[in-house]
Amino acid sequence: MTTTITKSASDLSLDLSQKVIDGKAIAKALRQELAKEVRELKESAGITPGLAVVLVGEDPASGVYVRNKTRACVEVGIRSAQHILPDSTTEAELLSLIDTLNADTEIHGILVQLPLPSHIDQATIIEAISAQKDADGFHPYNMGRLLTGCPTLQPCTPLGVMHLLKSAGIKCAGKDAIVIGRSNIVGKPVAVMLLGQNATVTLCHSKTVNLEKKIAAADIVIAAIGRAEMIKGAWIKEGATVIDVGMNRNAEGKLCGDVEYAEAVKRAAHITPVPGGVGPMTIAMLLKNTVTAARLIHKV
Ligand code: NDP
Repeated sequence: MTTTITKSASDLSLDLSQKVIDGKAIAKALRQELAKEVRELKESAGITPGLAVVLVGEDPASGVYVRNKTRACVEVGIRSAQHILPDSTTEAELLSLIDTLNADTEIHGILVQLPLPSHIDQATIIEAISAQKDADGFHPYNMGRLLTGCPTLQPCTPLGVMHLLKSAGIKCAGKDAIVIGRSNIVGKPVAVMLLGQNATVTLCHSKTVNLEKKIAAADIVIAAIGRAEMIKGAWIKEGATVIDVGMNRNAEGKLCGDVEYAEAVKRAAHITPVPGGVGPMTIAMLLKNTVTAARLIHKV
């Protein structure tokens, strides 16, 4: 029988016999804490954190993400501004909007929904966003701060992964952690964060050999590949912690992760489900970054 971890991240008095890490409930608890913090910021300093979300084009999945992010802002009391631009928007027009948002004193966080249409250079846009308002934490300045051990605004999904580990009472120090996937938005930053928590980290990718053997030796497995159930449950070490970032559709069209959950859950001590694991944490961390940005900008 499996039980579920649902408590707030700040409540570390968890029953560690609990196995399934409930990201939905942990994210909800975090949003409640943020709502309280936003109320206090308004009362004590007259500051309402503001997030601008920019969407270029009509990608349906991106449209859903943007609506969810806006709804979550409203729920915690963050001022939110949506900028929905047509697919024909030029890079110069988008840069001009970013300039305006960089200068807007009511906006503390700016998020440009990725991917962008192919005629717009993603790196140019990310670098144009003020590093102080970089709600996604993708700006090279913030990435550099993370790498040098002085993090400010950090990428949301990796932050969410670390929050889940903390909520589950997992101590990273001295553990062998493996990250599968080396993207700038998930794999690389989460590897750096694990290192920052004194884990010994192996970072794997599509050219890695003997992946199965490496996973079998790991105490903490972070899967961020984007391939339905590629990591077999039998590869997981007994008692390991498994955080599955993957969001895929299986052959039946059902949402699933990168890990073969039905088998992995029998071996892992702690595991995140898909959906309901990492996914809800990403938006919660975006809200947290917006509040952090407002605090940094106003020095409160
Ligand atoms: P990318 O496609 O950018 O990166 C995938 C990584 O997986 C690459 O580093 C790639 O290696 C590696 N990879 C691919 N095939 C293999 C293989 N056979 N063995 C080992 N490694 C492999 O994906 P993202 O990082 O953007 O996303 C990863 C997953 O996480 C996706 O399913 C995505 O939907 C999900 N996601 C979920 C979020 C959430 O909020 N829940 C947020 C962001 C992402 P190489 O570099 O060599 O190509």
